[in-house]
Amino acid sequence: MQLKPGQKLVVASHNAGKVREINELINPFGLDAVSAGELNLDEPVEDGDSFAANALIKARAATKASGLAALADDSGLEVAGLDGAPGIYSARWGGESGDFQLAMERVNNELVEKGLLADEDRGANFTCALALCLPSGETEVFLGQVFGTVVWPPRGTLGFGYDPMFVPLGEMVTFGEMEPARKHQMSHRANAFQLFKAACLDHLVQS
Ligand code: IMP
Repeated sequence: MQLKPGQKLVVASHNAGKVREINELINPFGLDAVSAGELNLDEPVEDGDSFAANALIKARAATKASGLAALADDSGLEVAGLDGAPGIYSARWGGESGDFQLAMERVNNELVEKGLLADEDRGANFTCALALCLPSGETEVFLGQVFGTVVWPPRGTLGFGYDPMFVPLGEMVTFGEMEPARKHQMSHRANAFQLFKAACLDHLVQS
């Protein structure tokens, strides 16, 4: 699924940070993104049972409401010893106030209750599903992941969400301790973006 030169996209998110990140990726290809917020689009109910399903719900709703191609992402932390939890509920574990110290404590407490204390029992990954929906109704999902372990106590003040408890494979530091530029080279979101770029943008002339 290739995007056309000059095509306008809507980013199905009200999060200004996400829209900025996507614009940084697509602007060099002569494409421009507006946010669902700027177009006053309603946020659909995310009742899918996977990251991909939820990303598709958001992308399809934004295309339907705007008539534009839409990009949406959905992401979270999956802990193997917790059968993939918090998974699609990653944001919800932070509660109304988005308290991820509490959410990280819950991850650790549930692992401790199961006797999962050693690094080798604490495998986890972040996943990002990036869904593209074209005005024709055609869709495609790009899945990016980064694998590592969840540690306790959390370390570092950089990043967001579960970053202070996640150490990517082959690294000594958590995402919360890592320079953002370095995280952005190896993150689940970066991997999903690379797949999207290769499939949908690389045929366009880059400035
Ligand atoms: P959403 O995709 O914006 O719904 O985010 C889902 C939730 O997953 C966020 O609220 C974070 O808690 C968590 N999450 C997603 N990506 C990351 C990341 O790169 N670092 C830390 N937490 C993340």
